[in-house]
Amino acid sequence: MPKRIDHVAIIVRNIEQALVFYRETLGIEPSVIKDVPSEQVRIAFLPLGGPAGSEIELIEPTTPDSSLAKFLEKRGEGLHHICLEVENIDATLQEMQAKGAPVLDKEPRLAAEGRAIFVHPKGTSGVLLELLERPSAE
Ligand code: ZN
Repeated sequence: MPKRIDHVAIIVRNIEQALVFYRETLGIEPSVIKDVPSEQVRIAFLPLGGPAGSEIELIEPTTPDSSLAKFLEKRGEGLHHICLEVENIDATLQEMQAKGAPVLDKEPRLAAEGRAIFVHPKGTSGVLLELLERPSAE
């Protein structure tokens, strides 16, 4: 069973512009703002609630032809996915496959914060779902 909501990801046209609300108005200080060239995005993490808390992730596509850029073009800014933390991503993947969930990954992919799989919105009542195993603390 998932442990907690790890993050909620919002796709935006421009991170600096989005931060006018999330940082200035709402008052959440980003812990990280960085380019991830391998994913053709720029991301910002806005942490809430300390180490056991969760984060808002802002995602800005940096090239016009990635799947994220196409998503933004088609759907506009808004919710992109939610992410739940799990204990063991390999066991979770097997369980999802055994139960017939529309998993988008054949094996866990390397994400910014650990190893993750994605489940298609058609299996989750309309929201792209990320399941993530964070590396253990030691
Ligand atoms: Zn994510």
